[in-house]
Amino acid sequence: MEMQTVGADRYAVVGNPVTHSLSPQIHRAFAQQTQQLVDYSAIEIATGDFELQLWELQQQGLKGVNVTVPFKRQAWEICDQRSPRADDAGAVNTLVFTEDGNIEGDNTDGVGLTRDLLDNHHVLIKHRKILILGAGGAVRGVLAPLLALQPENITIANRTLEKAEVLAEEFPNSGNMQACSFGDLGVDKYDLIINATAASLDNEVPPIPEDILGINSVCYDLMYNIHSLTAFVNWAQRCGASRAIDGLGMLVEQAAESFFIWRGVRVETPEVIAALRH
Ligand code: NDP
Repeated sequence: MEMQTVGADRYAVVGNPVTHSLSPQIHRAFAQQTQQLVDYSAIEIATGDFELQLWELQQQGLKGVNVTVPFKRQAWEICDQRSPRADDAGAVNTLVFTEDGNIEGDNTDGVGLTRDLLDNHHVLIKHRKILILGAGGAVRGVLAPLLALQPENITIANRTLEKAEVLAEEFPNSGNMQACSFGDLGVDKYDLIINATAASLDNEVPPIPEDILGINSVCYDLMYNIHSLTAFVNWAQRCGASRAIDGLGMLVEQAAESFFIWRGVRVETPEVIAALRH
């Protein structure tokens, strides 16, 4: 049982599994940096009645929660109000329990990715050709923020082609988007290749050809690993990508945006990312 700070506002990340989440460490670092009295823990909840379990946390006085796998869609469904970016994403990773008992939902994953790409790694998106591997919940969350940065086009490649096609058609800017299967790749080269497949969880890389890399291609893996290279970062380095970046920065940036929603304070993320790496 973790000690709670007396008088602190309480937050948590809820998921299943959640014990290995870095979010408590990240939010504690934010609280320390900004001198906010915040208590943040990881709470594993059963996959049964999500709404009831959330209600219990609300009754216990928590001010808000982050939501992770596999509850982001259910979190979207139970909100009283949702932000436009939560609606674009069709998923919620940040809930605010308001004073009047309402639940407000937002999605900070997309802005987490774009801030990490732009601010931390200075990767150009405008007029660039982007390839996204995967068509799951995370991709749905990052498409609108990426499109807002005006890439030349976005190709979504997925093991199940239909899911990529649905996503490519769903967004208003879909003139800029195409869907394909992994087997179709190899003709075009891309400036930025984003891996958002869950293959990473098994330490695997989707079946993609090296030919998608040009001499200046940047590879970005939503997966992160602070102890070793992720499978996709490893693949990218081996195949000669100009840069290969994992998703730790995205994790910290999405957390920073959640912290801002809850506390109204912006944090300095680079020092938190650096501390996690070391
Ligand atoms: P989903 O389960 O919604 O989607 C999984 C995707 O991966 C689908 O497109 C699926 O294809 C594909 N996939 C699964 N297994 C394989 C495989 N063996 N080979 C090829 N493709 C495969 O997951 P999410 O979108 O929520 O998450 C995707 C990844 O992004 C995870 O690794 C997650 O940890 C990471 N993530 C990181 C964040 C960060 O802050 N850094 C934030 C959010 C997510 P199909 O449709 O064919 O099943």
